[in-house]
Amino acid sequence: MEYYLIVFCVGLAIGSFLNVCIYRMPKEESVIMTPSRCTSCGTSLKPLDLVPVISYVFLKGKCRYCGEGVSAKYPLIELLNAAVYIFLLYRFGLSVEFAAASYLASILIAVFFIDLKHYIIPDQLVIAGLAGGILLMVYNLFYPVGFYGGDRSWWNPLAGILSGSGFLFLVAVIGMLIYKTDEAMGMGDVKILAPIGMFLGWKLTVVALLLSVLLGGIISIILIAVNIKKRRDAIPFGPFIVLGTLISMVWGHDIINWYISRLMA
Ligand SMILES: [Zn+2]
Repeated sequence: MEYYLIVFCVGLAIGSFLNVCIYRMPKEESVIMTPSRCTSCGTSLKPLDLVPVISYVFLKGKCRYCGEGVSAKYPLIELLNAAVYIFLLYRFGLSVEFAAASYLASILIAVFFIDLKHYIIPDQLVIAGLAGGILLMVYNLFYPVGFYGGDRSWWNPLAGILSGSGFLFLVAVIGMLIYKTDEAMGMGDVKILAPIGMFLGWKLTVVALLLSVLLGGIISIILIAVNIKKRRDAIPFGPFIVLGTLISMVWGHDIINWYISRLMA
């Protein structure tokens, strides 16, 4: 039980760092070298102003120095990251799968919010993901990783890159040829599928892609139907990739087994 409390606090702290990434990466500012500042008055924040969630609550959502309101999305993203960690701990227990899933999930939470607002996926997040993917790939040579379904072959994570990035790249090329533009599918989507493919292996990556397309289709239709988006508006695909990947990471093998049992019936 005490594991849950520790994991929750670590989740809040990493969530706090994700806020820095989400705020600074689109502006190409360093995420580690410069100290945190108030976005209104520019005062450097002290450690006491930066305790996840607690500082926000005690300062009643205002900057201590200028009194300007601080967006509630900061504590909410911290809480979201901590909640995801708790769920993953519940799902995978204290295991390598839990650590790997938490690492990828945090990167994907940053991808979700950055792509939603700025329509880009920063290369730094892709690189951080690849670094973790390589570690997991090496680990799988010695101990089987659950995401790969017990498949210890060295090429499985690489086949994941091919079925994820390779497939989206093909879609991008076909889209460019049909619409005669080079913006049919963002290359950021192609790139982020590389670490996702490494973490999930090829089977769960295929499930993740299918879920992303399905969710993207359904939610786009709803957004257009309720007039939040118009038919010609660009809707970023990254957030759907994030949702599809998280669902596949947690329930992918269940989905595959369910599908196969239906085929057999
Ligand atoms: Zn301020």
